Order: sequence, then C-alpha cells, then structure tokens
Amino acid sequence: MSPFTDNPAESLAALGEVELISRIRDWLGAANPPAPAGIGDDCAVLPDSPVPNLVTVDPVVYGRHFDDATPPALAGAKLIKRNLSDIAAMGGQPTSGVLALAAGSNVSLVWLEAFIRGLAGTCIEFSTTIVGGDIAELPAGQFVGTLTLLGHAERKLLRTGTQLGDRILVTGALGGSIASKHLDFTPRIAEGLWLAGRSEVTAMMDLTDGLAKDLPAMLTAGTCAMLETASIPIAPAAEDLATHSGKPAAEHAFCDGEDYELLFMVKGDANLDALLADWIETFTTPLCCIGKIDTVKQASQNRRLINTASGELLYPDGGYQHLKRHD
Ligand SMILES: [Mg+2]
Repeated sequence: MSPFTDNPAESLAALGEVELISRIRDWLGAANPPAPAGIGDDCAVLPDSPVPNLVTVDPVVYGRHFDDATPPALAGAKLIKRNLSDIAAMGGQPTSGVLALAAGSNVSLVWLEAFIRGLAGTCIEFSTTIVGGDIAELPAGQFVGTLTLLGHAERKLLRTGTQLGDRILVTGALGGSIASKHLDFTPRIAEGLWLAGRSEVTAMMDLTDGLAKDLPAMLTAGTCAMLETASIPIAPAAEDLATHSGKPAAEHAFCDGEDYELLFMVKGDANLDALLADWIETFTTPLCCIGKIDTVKQASQNRRLINTASGELLYPDGGYQHLKRHD
C-alpha cells in the first residue's frame, strides 16, 4: 500500500499537528501509558532503574526499508523490531521508546493508522510502551519513522567481551532475508535475556549487516574466527535466492543483511553440550556452533574469518556497508 494519497481530505494535510498527535495516541492504545509516564508533557518521566540502562535508535525510511508493496502494519512493526533486536543483542529487556515521524503532508491517514497500530501491537507483545515523540514535515512523497528505544540489562554483555578460545554460536538461519524475513521476524529478546543469564557467554551482538561484516566487529587484535563452513546455518530463503542470483547460497548466508539473529561467544572451557541441551529444553529457535576464536598465524588473518578446512579468508569484503556504493 502506498503511504501517500492525492486526496488532501484523506491525508495529514486535513489535520493540524494537535489533532494528529491525538489520533496517534488513540492508535497506540494500550502501548501509550498516561502522562507523565507517557505522551502529554514536555518530557516523559521514567522510573529509576537499578540496573544498567540501554538506549538504541533505528529508522524506517520509505523507499529504503519499505515501499508501496509493504503492508503498513508490517512497516510499523519493523520499526520497533529493528530496535528490539538491538536490545536483545545486549541481553536486555525493552522498556519504552519515543517515536519521531517526519512525513510529507500527503501521507494517507489510513496508511498512518495501520503503521502506528502495527507498531503498537508489537510494543504490547514485547511489554514496551511509546512514551513520547515528535512530528516534522518533509516534502510530499517522503516518510521516515525513527524510534529511540530504552531498555535495561542485568549485565553488560558487549560485543567486545570475546576471548581467545571462545566458541562462536548463532541463532536461527542466515541469508535471503530480503525475500520476506526482513519484514516478518521475531526479535530474539527471550533468547538474549536467557543468554545474558549464562556466565559462560562472553560477548553478543545481533546480525544486521551479514556475518561477514558483523563477526569481525567482535574480534580483538591478533585474533581471527576459524569457521566450520559446513556448520553455517543457511536459510531456505538463501537457497531459493541462489537459484536465480548467480551466487552460492553460502555467500547469501555470509553477506546478506537483516538476519536479526544473535551471534554470541561461549568460553572455550565451558561445557557447550550442557548449554545446547538447556537451550533445546527452553527454545525451538535453532542454535549452531560455527567455529572458534583463534590466534592469527599471519597478519592478513587479523580480525578475519578463516575457513578451518582450507585456511582461506572467507568473504573479506562481504556484508552490507552503509553509504558505500555497491554498483
Ligand atoms: Mg545491532
């Protein structure tokens, strides 16, 4: 569905900002608590947190993250889910967010209602509220929704906790997200919270730009990731895409963006079988060990992914690079 309409009576142009905010509060429903904990004052007043606070921000941009073919409820849900995935990556619990909309006055009210209701439904599903926001006007035909999401974590589980000898694990299956998963995924909040409670987990992040680009972000100087390529979980969508993209399915698994899976490290001396057994009792989400952290043998391997069997570098320039021209 197109976000835009040629009929001003059915667009944002028919409402002033005050009426639009009132409508948005209605559409958010139970996802918007009463002021001062929610929308209605200059700032929202949040409760004190006894544990470390988290904050993250992500947008959805018309023409970039969704288009006319995207159901508006899924575009709204995607906005909060992208942020939830970042909270999950820290082993955190989401709490509340603020929503900044920048929109042309020809955005359709029917479309915006569905977008906000899609966002609100996902907020409720993940016990998260929208406590404020802002509206700004863009030229006609443009729409950007930006959500800043807060959360808290019992423990600071960072990307940089990786240690020599750690095993490398990943949830779910990778690649081919563009077919549908980028709009229809479950943020790994429950899995992230569980993993943060396991002392053998040393570091974690969420996969958004592809394993080839994201995994090096967890490697410290002098280390590399030795990967068992046969253990990489390749999504069926990556296999489908490979039949007409001219690239192997494995390349899609390493280099496609928007997997929204968790990538994490487990101490080398920990009982991995015990962790996997506990996982299977708790989650249906697949979990794979794909390799381990080793010392580099030569400078070219520094912070790189290495095929354990062949010793070759894996996709040294792979993954999605924002702002870099790919054509
Ligand atoms: Mg992230």
